Amino acid sequence: MPEVILHAEGEEAMLALGARLANLTQGRGILYLHGDLGAGKTTLSRGILRGLGHVGAVKSPTFTLVEPYEIGGMRAFHFDLYRLADPEELEFLGIRDYFEGDALCLIEWPQRGAGILPKADLDINITPQAGGRSLRLSPHTERGEAWCAALAM
Ligand code: ADP
Ligand code: MG
Repeated sequence: MPEVILHAEGEEAMLALGARLANLTQGRGILYLHGDLGAGKTTLSRGILRGLGHVGAVKSPTFTLVEPYEIGGMRAFHFDLYRLADPEELEFLGIRDYFEGDALCLIEWPQRGAGILPKADLDINITPQAGGRSLRLSPHTERGEAWCAALAM
């Protein structure tokens, strides 16, 4: 399955795309979110978490590194590793527990956790494009390929 390129014009379109993704994941999997500061990683995460059924705020876990969510029996973890100085720090957060169960893990700045993080089902690269955002989705597992196939239709 090749990459899928999508376009989201405006914040609402980004949230809607997140909701579509949420439906496909059924609350399971690992998504890496790449893009510069302001690209829209947290906005997409908000769309995904709300799409899973989360009601209320989704704050950027810039200082806490990870924000856990319990959504009607599902678990999700939203990481922002921008301030992670050393991937080894993740061990102290007890991140193994996060990736063991059936949870959805959304990871901003995953390159900061290289070598410690498990591999992603899907890489999402977000770049500005004509007032909106271009999203390049690259699957790395069967699960990720299934999501991409559904999104490409
Ligand atoms: P990041 O987490 O990558 O630093 P944010 O999600 O905080 O970025 O978004 C930064 C800004 O980009 C916000 O003001 C948000 O409304 C805007 N934004 C997000 N997605 C889009 C989009 N698809 N089109 C236009 N603006 C967007
Ligand atoms: Mg962010």
